[in-house]
Amino acid sequence: MTTSSTHDTLILAADEHGIEEDLVCDNATSVVRGLQEAGYEAYLVGGCVRDLLLGAKPKDFDVATNATPEDVHKLFRRARMIGRRFRIAHVRFGRDVIEVSTFRKHHEEEDDLDYQTSARSEDGLVLRDNFYGTLEDDVFRRDFTVNALYYDPITQELHDYAGGLEDLKAKRLRLIGKPAARFREDPVRILRAVRFTAKLGFTPDQELLDAIPDIAELLTAIPPARLFDEVAKLLLHGWAEKTWEIMTELELAYILFPTTRPESDLIAAAMRNTDRRVAEDKPVTPGFLLAVILWEDYQARVGELILSQNMQVAEQRAGDQCVAEQNLTVAIPRRFAQFIKETWSLQPRLEKRGGKGVQKLLRHPRFRAAYDFLALRAECGVIEEDIVKYWTDIQLEYPVESRPEESDDGEETADGETKRKRPGRGRGRRRSGGPRKADGNTGDSGNSGNSSGNSASNGRGASTSDKDGEARKPKRRRRRRRKPAAAGGAQGQASGSASND
Ligand code: ATP
Ligand code: MG
Repeated sequence: MTTSSTHDTLILAADEHGIEEDLVCDNATSVVRGLQEAGYEAYLVGGCVRDLLLGAKPKDFDVATNATPEDVHKLFRRARMIGRRFRIAHVRFGRDVIEVSTFRKHHEEEDDLDYQTSARSEDGLVLRDNFYGTLEDDVFRRDFTVNALYYDPITQELHDYAGGLEDLKAKRLRLIGKPAARFREDPVRILRAVRFTAKLGFTPDQELLDAIPDIAELLTAIPPARLFDEVAKLLLHGWAEKTWEIMTELELAYILFPTTRPESDLIAAAMRNTDRRVAEDKPVTPGFLLAVILWEDYQARVGELILSQNMQVAEQRAGDQCVAEQNLTVAIPRRFAQFIKETWSLQPRLEKRGGKGVQKLLRHPRFRAAYDFLALRAECGVIEEDIVKYWTDIQLEYPVESRPEESDDGEETADGETKRKRPGRGRGRRRSGGPRKADGNTGDSGNSGNSSGNSASNGRGASTSDKDGEARKPKRRRRRRRKPAAAGGAQGQASGSASND
C-alpha cells in the first residue's frame, strides 16, 4: 500500500465541516484537552468523526495521540492499559470508556520488521504491530478513508489526509492503499467493509469488491474468538438483515458458518426481527441468532443420531457436535452455547403442547427464548400457528413473574457484555457516546441466563477487534457442508415479530 498520500491534506474549520459540537462527548473532549495541555498531539478519530460528519451520534469515541500508552497511563488516573497486539489505554468516566491509541506506523517493507514489536505471517497477515509513528503514519495504517479523519474538538479543526471527506460525501467505501494487500494483512477488514456498507449505506469501491473472493478464505485463519466479536458487531446493531444479504452474496456467510444454509428463510426472518428489536431499543442476544443460524445443521444431526440413540442423547450430542464444529470458525462463548442448546431442546417439547409438565416448562429459564424461536418457525410456515397460540394463551393463564436465571444475571450488551456489573470487576463498561444496547434478543427471553464470562464476547474486545488478533489458529480445518433437514428449512415468507412482547 502507499504510505504517502496522493490526496492534498485538508484542514477544515468549524464552519467548513459542519460538525455539531453538541454531538461530541464531553469526556472525549476532556481527554483530548488533557493530552494537549500536557504537550501531546491528540485528536478524535475513526468512526466517531465519520459519524459526526454524517450528523449521527457516535456510539463511542476514540482518541489518537502521540503520547504512548504509558504516557497516557501516567497522565490520567482513570487510565488502564489493555491489548497485546496493540497496546492502548482506556480512560474511564464512570461507565464510559474513551479509547486512546498511540499513532502507529504501517509497515510494508520486510526490512522494516522488528519481530519484537511487529510480525507478519506468510500470508501477509499482521500479527503484532506496535510501531509508534506520527499522525501522518497513523492515517495510512487505518482501514477505510472515511475512518481516517481526525478531529480536534478544542480548535474544531478537521484533518483529512486520505480523501475521506470526498468519499464520505460521495458515500463511497474505499480502503486506504491496495485492497488486496490491506485485506490480506487483516482479513477482518472484509467483514468491516460489509458492516460499513450495510450500516452506512455506502457503496463499496469496485476494486475493494474485486479483492474479496481471493482473500475471503483467509478469514478462517483469524482466531475464532475475534470472529465472534465481529459477528456480534455485524448482526446485533440494527442492520443484520442487510448485512446477512451482503454476506450471503459475497459467500462470506458460508465461510463463517460452514454448516449453514445462508438463504434460509428462518435466518432472514430472525435478522429482520433482530433489526426491529434494536430499532425499538429492545434487548438482543447473539445466542438467539446463532441458534437460528445453526438450527438446520442441528436438526440434520439429530435426524442422523436418532437412528442409533434415544432422543435425549441424540439431541445432546447433536447440540454438542454442532457447536463444536462452529467453534472452529466463530467461537461461541460457553454461556451462549448453553443458551442455544436449551432453546433447541425445548422445541419438540413445545411442539407437543400440553401435558403435565406445562407449568414446569413455563418456568424454564429458556422458555421465552424457545417460545420466540417457535414463533419464528411458525412465521416461516414450518410449524402450525396454533402451537404458538397455545403457548401464548397459556402464558396468560399461568403468568410467570420471573425465571430464576433470567432475573439473576443482568442484561447483556449487544456484544455479549454483561450489563449489570459485579462491583469492582471492571467488566462491561460501555464506550462513550452511544446508547447502551442490552442483550438477549428475545427481551425477557433473550438474556443468556448464565453469567459466566468469556473474553471473546466482552464489549471492549468487540470494539477493539483490530487490536487483539495476534494468535493464529494452529491448523486449517476441513470445511463441510451439511444437507439441510427438511423440517428445519424455513419455508414461506416471514413477517411480523416472532416475539410476543
Ligand atoms: P463503529 O462505529 O462501528 O465503532 P469504527 O470505525 O469506529 O466503527 P472501531 O472498531 O471502533 O470501528 O475502530 C476505530 C477505528 O480504528 C476505525 O475507524 C479505523 O480507523 C481503525 N480500525 C479498526 N479496525 C481496524 C482494522 N482492522 N484495520 C485498520 N484500521 C482499523
Ligand atoms: Mg468505534
